[in-house]
Amino acid sequence: FSLLLLSLTFVSAVSAQDADDTQKTKFDYQSDVTRLRKIVINSLYSHRDVWLRELISNSNDALEKFRLTSLTKKGFGNDDPLNITVKAIRDEDEKGGKIIITDTGIGMSKDELAANLGTLAKSGTTEFLNRAENADTTTGTGNLIGAFGVGFYSSFLVADRVYVASRPPRSKEIPEPEQWVFSSSSDESSFEIYPDPRGATLGQGTEITLIMKPDAVKYLSTNVLTELIDKHSAFSSTFPIYLFTQK
Ligand code: ADP
Ligand code: MG
Repeated sequence: FSLLLLSLTFVSAVSAQDADDTQKTKFDYQSDVTRLRKIVINSLYSHRDVWLRELISNSNDALEKFRLTSLTKKGFGNDDPLNITVKAIRDEDEKGGKIIITDTGIGMSKDELAANLGTLAKSGTTEFLNRAENADTTTGTGNLIGAFGVGFYSSFLVADRVYVASRPPRSKEIPEPEQWVFSSSSDESSFEIYPDPRGATLGQGTEITLIMKPDAVKYLSTNVLTELIDKHSAFSSTFPIYLFTQK
């Protein structure tokens, strides 16, 4: 692990406005996902710091999956360095901003975006849901988070909207994989999938853009991000984490 602080220059961020509506496909979340998102958004406010740990741990898993697969699969992926970057970008009016977390891992195809982020494939999730819905106190739910992890949906604790752009590594079968976007807001029970209007900006891997809630702008601070990464991700991440912030 290493954490490197860098200053941010230019970023071309994904946005739904850039995409042609005819290209977008709307999907309803599986009902268990809607239940889980409600629990996460409504009862985990006091544990909202977990979002960064969850997203970095997903990036780390994706990098590990790529590394393992590339050991045996010839011609899989490019030779880009395997790492995680976290970029914090304030809006000009300083009232809001976005955080972009990118990894050069296994990525997701169009179908994988819908399946992995729109349904709950994990065993034990239904048990988590039942226990969390019956827990009366926030602390009760809090203990459950430690045991189960809330995963990707914890991003909605701090973001009004989340974009996930992803591109699988090149392979013999698919030499030029497409880059697709998953987009969802915290208050809808549906999500959209569309080809990235920017084209294939990622060599391989996943880029998660969080449009931060107005009450979560504190996470745009270098100190807050550094502290969270040091506390929750430094020891568990096996790949370098680079933090880019603005001057
Ligand atoms: P878990 O990590 O426990 O499986 P999550 O809710 O955190 O649950 O993530 C759901 C799934 O979405 C993951 O299992 C993975 O398939 C996919 N996923 C999430 N983040 C990434 C990422 N950065 N790169 C590739 N796949 C990802
Ligand atoms: Mg996870």
